[in-house]
Amino acid sequence: MDVYRQQLDAFDPAVAQAIAGEEHRQVDGIEMIPSENYTYPEVLAALGSVLTNKYSEGYPGRRYYGGQEFTDRIERIACERACALFRAEHANVQPLSGSPMNQAVYFAFLKPGDTVLAMDLSHGGHLTHGAPVSHMGKVFNFVRYKTAPQQGGTIDFDALRQLALEIRPQLVLCGYSSYPRDYDYASFKQIADEVGALTMADISHIGGLVAADVMRNPLDAGFDVVTTTTHKSLRGPRGGLILSKAAHAGAIDAAVFPGLQGGPHMNVIAGAAVTFKKAQEADFRRYAQATLDNAKALAAALMAEGAKLVTGGTDNHLMVLDTVASFGLDGRAAEEALDRVGITTNKQIIPDDPRPPLRPSGIRLGTPACTTRGMDPQAMGRLAGWIVRTLRRPDDGAGLAAIRAEVRALCRSHPVPGVSG
Ligand SMILES: *Cc1c(COP(=O)(O)O)cnc(C)c1O
Repeated sequence: MDVYRQQLDAFDPAVAQAIAGEEHRQVDGIEMIPSENYTYPEVLAALGSVLTNKYSEGYPGRRYYGGQEFTDRIERIACERACALFRAEHANVQPLSGSPMNQAVYFAFLKPGDTVLAMDLSHGGHLTHGAPVSHMGKVFNFVRYKTAPQQGGTIDFDALRQLALEIRPQLVLCGYSSYPRDYDYASFKQIADEVGALTMADISHIGGLVAADVMRNPLDAGFDVVTTTTHKSLRGPRGGLILSKAAHAGAIDAAVFPGLQGGPHMNVIAGAAVTFKKAQEADFRRYAQATLDNAKALAAALMAEGAKLVTGGTDNHLMVLDTVASFGLDGRAAEEALDRVGITTNKQIIPDDPRPPLRPSGIRLGTPACTTRGMDPQAMGRLAGWIVRTLRRPDDGAGLAAIRAEVRALCRSHPVPGVSG
């Protein structure tokens, strides 16, 4: 790695300096975007390996190119480890990212125009769950359900069942990007069974927490298909993973290749294999539990300061802070103020947000990345204080500078594994 880096520094200082700047940024501030994490040095080594040179269209033992002795070995290891980790019968590790992963599942089981029951974007669903701006929303008939304010912002399963009986979906989808609670898979499965629909859980955000068994596993509830990205709480390279029952293996594999993609990125698949090995260790389980403990501590400390969280707290790694209700600041202004003190967040729409997506009512906060660098509940208490002080007085230059210095000191005492910055 270091030798490659020296060559890059010498040949292309413009790009090399931008990479070094990003390294410094990642080390020097607190990363609170819930979908981000710091991957392992061992994964960076796999990503930067000669595997990027190799074409491997097809699947192990059935490739369209020669020279697959080692790539076959790597992909088989990745699939075996993924199945063991998630108690799945089949795994496909080829999706290039989360979006093609979900598209492949839709095309594996649905015809254009078929109906999917999925969560509304502003209530926590993902773009690939049929948002009108996505191509998937044009190809398939997505009917969106919402969370229920009268149930504290959770899912009303009686209403969901009525909707399912009315529209008769072919697929029922749960799994979200900004929903701070655990999912009741058994209730989804019961409703899907009643209308004869397949069940899909997109656990992209909580994949690592499910792998570590600190959150429920939808496969244990009999779900047909589970999708997850490999780079969020799972802490691996950027990629997608599709897990399923053995009966669906043929349909899913054909939908990924040749249905949607050409050559898989074997360097990423090697990185995913390493990630799954890491996730089988006791250390990873402790990490996943600490991620949950930190989220609870941060949510409690924010609420103690009077901040308003969507659903009034969290059961997972993330929370949505209503910055308009709490501080009279829109999400973009809040994100920018926190950027100034070295706390990175993302603006976030809240359920039925009356404001536009680029100036929404809140921000999203998550603990996977800061937990990777060993921050604990006590640090979360300090972090909550900094967030509240910043958002109460975003124009107080001297106050923000003082907070920036405290953030930097906390970061210095919690190095990022494998990054010097
Ligand atoms: C992040 C995410 C995805 C998409 O992942 P990309 O890698 O960004 O394409 C899909 N579904 C959910 C629920 C997500 O949170």
